[in-house]
Amino acid sequence: MRYLVLTDIHANLEALEACLADARARGYDRTLVLGDLVGYGADPNAVIERVSRLNPHVIVRGNHDKVACGLEAADGFNTVARSAAHWTLDILTDEHRQWLAALPRGPIQVDDLVEICHGSPFDEDAYIFDELDAARALKTSTRPLCLFGHTHYPAVFELAHDGLESVSTDAEESAVPLADGSKYLVNPGSVGQPRDGDPRAAYGIVDESARWVELFRVKYAVNEARTKIVRAGLPEVLAQRLTVGR
Ligand code: ZN
Repeated sequence: MRYLVLTDIHANLEALEACLADARARGYDRTLVLGDLVGYGADPNAVIERVSRLNPHVIVRGNHDKVACGLEAADGFNTVARSAAHWTLDILTDEHRQWLAALPRGPIQVDDLVEICHGSPFDEDAYIFDELDAARALKTSTRPLCLFGHTHYPAVFELAHDGLESVSTDAEESAVPLADGSKYLVNPGSVGQPRDGDPRAAYGIVDESARWVELFRVKYAVNEARTKIVRAGLPEVLAQRLTVGR
């Protein structure tokens, strides 16, 4: 089984299409989506359409999905995120709003190897940034590999018998082998709004028979996504940050 892993698409259709084209060329069987399909970007309806056509094997909701469909208030959001959430709530079709509202909460066990969540396996809205967060998450994860998103930073944490380690993901294309007896937390990075200083879209593929996770970066039409954001009247900073990946 090869799982395509997408997270934090954030209504960026150009980034999503680029990842899908890249993944198609590499080959995969099923799709896992870790939430935050909308919020920030200019194409929430088109992204929901495209993701639902992928017929994801398992999908969980993100914090932006909850706010964008009216399930939760934007209280915890900063001004820019809140204004994008209101814009999204306004422009979503009824059908798409209901589709978002029906997305399940993570974590969800996919099979014997993999589980997925948006933020963390103990709280869908919690962030995993450092080894302290990872240690807590690994205590509650129930599968050897827990895939997460939410931070928009690619990250790999490995809990082996000799302790917890943060594995570097700086390479152009990194394959993370999954050792027997270790537990892993892996964030492939954000499809539609990377924040690690690399503006390219990020996604992952889990290959169960090879027992590894591959992390990829893909160039996409950033300027097109930027133009749409500005034209939609969304905060301009959301367009600017796509260029720098911050
Ligand atoms: Zn997000």
